[in-house]
Amino acid sequence: GNSAIASVATDEQLARFGPTWAAMAITEPSFGSDSAAISTTAVKDGDEYILNGEKIFVTAGERADSVVVWATLDKSLGRAAIKSFVVQKGTPGMKVERLEHKLGIRASDTAVIMFTDCRVPAENILGTPEIDLKGGFAGAMATFDNTRPLVAAMAVGCARASLDLTRDVLKQAGIEIDYDKPAFSQSAAAATFLQLEADWEAAYLLTLQSAWMADNREPNSMEASMAKAKAGRMGSDVTLRCVELAGTLGYSETDLLEKWGRDSKILDIFEGTQQIQQLIVARRILGLTSAELK
Ligand SMILES: Cc1cc2nc3c(=O)[nH]c(=O)nc-3n(C[C@H](O)[C@H](O)[C@H](O)COP(=O)(O)OP(=O)(O)OC[C@H]3O[C@@H](n4cnc5c(N)ncnc54)[C@H](O)[C@@H]3O)c2cc1C
Repeated sequence: GNSAIASVATDEQLARFGPTWAAMAITEPSFGSDSAAISTTAVKDGDEYILNGEKIFVTAGERADSVVVWATLDKSLGRAAIKSFVVQKGTPGMKVERLEHKLGIRASDTAVIMFTDCRVPAENILGTPEIDLKGGFAGAMATFDNTRPLVAAMAVGCARASLDLTRDVLKQAGIEIDYDKPAFSQSAAAATFLQLEADWEAAYLLTLQSAWMADNREPNSMEASMAKAKAGRMGSDVTLRCVELAGTLGYSETDLLEKWGRDSKILDIFEGTQQIQQLIVARRILGLTSAELK
């Protein structure tokens, strides 16, 4: 949510919402990957918008100070009419229905939120209220150029922690990893470990590049998707191989390797799945639109 605010808010909105903690509500029961299919509605009424709809799997939806809600001003106008609205916690008409039980990131709440005639001040619409039929969805989608490098960085962090702990476990078992010698001249466990390090480094470099571009306001949609695709997959692969390499210590809840293995999977799913990132990269490389390559 904070990335959405940072990407599309006016200076006045940044001053108002910037210091608060915002969740992000895009996904609905009828869609996930196809974020253009939003059916939550926003209807202007005087100096307010009235929101109606259901949002699911909202990370931090219960605990955050506010939720950035994606809704359509007019579904018949397609993507261009999708706007985002900052809804403060406790606004009448906004209700957390339930929290999900899930595989990983269990310290983070994941909420189903209903919006029923929920009135938000008109000045809480992020970006312009006008419907720009030419490039309207681009503003909302720009959010992902900032959030995907962040999710990639989480995968890089989880995998790094797993590798560091696994190296210690291997060392205690008498297996030293020599970074200066070829993998084929070392034990099978050490050779596997070196492969994981190489995979990690590729993801790390892509993540740095996409984050640097975002920080410097350079167009980075393709690089953000490349980093997210590579790091998302690497995170799951590396953390689970570390579970394997560490044997019972890897599987036991007494250490953190099993937790990092579970926590990594979501990083290959939210903010656009592995397959969606690959699709975006392919479109960029081939110069095709989302209508031409689905
Ligand atoms: C723990 C958790 C937290 C989440 N937090 C948030 C949040 O804070 N805010 C929010 O809005 N959403 C959130 N989500 C939702 C998340 O963004 C969606 O789950 C994700 O976008 C995928 O959508 P879906 O689950 O409907 O899967 P679907 O879109 O139904 O996809 C199912 C499978 O089909 C594949 N697929 C779909 N379309 C294509 C295609 N065109 N080509 C090839 N393959 C395709 C997908 O990659 C996936 O493997 C969260 C989800 C989870 C599990």
